[in-house]
Formats: sequence, structure tokens, C-alpha cells
Amino acid sequence: MTFRVETVFDLTHTCPAGHDSPDHTIVLNRSNWTCLTCQQSVHIKMADKVGNCYLVERVPAREIRAGDFIVYRERAGITANEVTCSNAYQGKGRLWYLAVAQFGHDKISPDQYVSRIPG
Ligand SMILES: [Zn+2]
Repeated sequence: MTFRVETVFDLTHTCPAGHDSPDHTIVLNRSNWTCLTCQQSVHIKMADKVGNCYLVERVPAREIRAGDFIVYRERAGITANEVTCSNAYQGKGRLWYLAVAQFGHDKISPDQYVSRIPG
């Protein structure tokens, strides 16, 4: 339960500003999941073998808000659920507390990227 990004399910990466036409292939900055041309978060199509399919963007945990829907690994596939709580952990360490409905909660780095369904 780490909400880790699972790139094995990635199908396509597209720039929301259209920097993915045949004569202008998207150049993805994999360190922060943005388009190198316009610095916007790229849209990523994810799918698993049983037919779950989502369009996501990837943002650091500290940018996730309650009410967002995030995509994460569950058993052999991926699933999405609503964030019920997202804030700086009050205990030891520089951590971020993230809770998701019907799934659970975890403390992760505030800089860890999370797959979020664009709002
Ligand atoms: Zn772009």
C-alpha cells in the first residue's frame, strides 16, 4: 500500500497542449512526468489485463487533495478511488499522509509521484 506509480500499466503519453502530433513527437520528462516542450503534466493512459482503463496525470503527493481520484495497484491490476485525506504527516519525519476510500492509508514522501485522474 504505497500508491507507487506503476509504469508497467502505461499505454500512451500525450501532451494536453498537443505536442504529440506525428511531426512533433512528445518528449517526456520522466523525472517529473511533464512535456519538455510546454512543461504541462502529460496525460497517461493506463490499462490492466482485465479491462480497467484510466487517463491520469502524475503529480507529487503534496499536490493531491481530498476529493481527488487516484489510480494505484491492487492485486494484479489497477483501480481508482477517492482520496479522503491528504496532508503533511504530523509525526516524525518529512512524510505525507494519504488516505483512500475503501483501500486504506499510508505515509509516503511528499515528493513521490502519484497517478491522479485530472479533475
Ligand atoms: Zn506539451
